[in-house]
Amino acid sequence: MQKNDLVANAGVTDVKGDRNLSPKEQPDKDVYLHVVEKRADGIVVRGAKCHQTGSLSAHEIIVLPTRALRKGEEEFAVAFAVPSDTAGVIHVVGRSSLDTREQDGCDCGNRRYSKYAPTVIFDNVFVPWNRVFLCGEVEFSADLVAYFSAFHRQSHGGCKAGKIDCMVGAALTMMAYNGTEKVGHHKEKVIDMIHRAETLYGCSLAASYEGKPMPSGTYFIDPVLANASKIHEGKEMAEATRLMIDIAGGFVADLPSDRDFDHPEVGPLLKKYLKGSNQAPVENRIKMFRLIEKMAMESADTISDIHGGGSPAAHRLTIFRESDTRSKVEAAKRLAGIED
Ligand SMILES: Cc1cc2nc3c(=O)[nH]c(=O)nc-3n(C[C@H](O)[C@H](O)[C@H](O)COP(=O)(O)OP(=O)(O)OC[C@H]3O[C@@H](n4cnc5c(N)ncnc54)[C@H](O)[C@@H]3O)c2cc1C
Repeated sequence: MQKNDLVANAGVTDVKGDRNLSPKEQPDKDVYLHVVEKRADGIVVRGAKCHQTGSLSAHEIIVLPTRALRKGEEEFAVAFAVPSDTAGVIHVVGRSSLDTREQDGCDCGNRRYSKYAPTVIFDNVFVPWNRVFLCGEVEFSADLVAYFSAFHRQSHGGCKAGKIDCMVGAALTMMAYNGTEKVGHHKEKVIDMIHRAETLYGCSLAASYEGKPMPSGTYFIDPVLANASKIHEGKEMAEATRLMIDIAGGFVADLPSDRDFDHPEVGPLLKKYLKGSNQAPVENRIKMFRLIEKMAMESADTISDIHGGGSPAAHRLTIFRESDTRSKVEAAKRLAGIED
């Protein structure tokens, strides 16, 4: 992957049907991707993976089980890689909350950076054996899920700290454009945004620093710190977004269309009435509102703060499972002078 500079999409999340039923109890077994045929030259799989970030711009889709599996669930214990344009792989692009901006001709960055997270349907896809990593070995599915999700939760923290940095930059610029640079409560809010970004970043970095070598020679990050970073992200991104919106003002919600700004009659009027401080051209203020709208309201990004890499309950469970709780109990008893 590194040598050829390939991009991969992690195909983990099954559509899952009734959450109260195990894969084999589902009335339609296809809601968990599974092996439908084993052949001499490979396997045939069917199912659907949803919210597949960047699947359309990835060279390869690496499919993993979405959950731990038990004996009797062998057909769902499957991991493999296929090129994203393999026959039978159907990418259905999901709608984004800012689609209508794009229809107005506004570049929200989605086309350039392929922000979309399609539902990817595997309609009887053939996978040759040399691309199959797991096929029926249920005992490894929990480990695969745990390794993937720990790395993903750590990288989310580092990534979203960078997003808050951009939000801080946007808030400070907006203060200059609006003439609120010297307003005390705005400075306080910027400080509150920065400390959230740095805590998130610190947690994510610490997960790497505390990483340990695996028998294969690769390093595995500290899963407790990785999950702590993700929990922090789920709560604090919302707070950082709230602070940025507070500083910027109401046009985050209802900035006129680019077509109106370009309109020969209405455009000049809008530009007259949307001017902030005399120091900045009105066009820059409009552009900055557009960026803030995207950072605050683009559905894929704000929802991924919470559900990306697994929902918050999964992070909490992992933290408890992976934490060395016994040494904490021993430390407390030692300090209290209790000898068992
Ligand atoms: C923008 C975005 C990008 C993503 N990118 C990818 C990607 O690239 N690849 C990928 O594989 N996945 C991706 N995901 C998927 C993500 O991992 C899932 O959204 C997440 O695991 C939650 O699954 P779900 O959406 O099916 O919600 P659900 O699993 O239905 O969860 C909804 C709620 O129900 C709770 N719940 C569900 N089942 C149970 C149960 N049995 N018992 C108790 N509580 C339960 C959950 O804890 C949560 O609170 C992405 C998600 C988003 C939003």
